[in-house]
Amino acid sequence: MPDDIDRAQGVNEQLQADALEAWRRRQSTGPGRTDCEDCGEAIPEARRKARPGCTRCIACQRKLEWIEGRK
Ligand SMILES: [Zn+2]
Repeated sequence: MPDDIDRAQGVNEQLQADALEAWRRRQSTGPGRTDCEDCGEAIPEARRKARPGCTRCIACQRKLEWIEGRK
């Protein structure tokens, strides 16, 4: 029944799109910080503008991504 499979796939894609959208909303409307939540250093305004809702300075974000990348 190709129709059912198409429909199931469509629902699945919609769920993923919704989850992504919710995630994006959390990222962009987070409390927004002026200081890094890891080291407490000030986050440059340029970075906060480029990455609204970011909570870490570039150094800590890089470290985090490096750790994540090694998993
Ligand atoms: Zn930091």
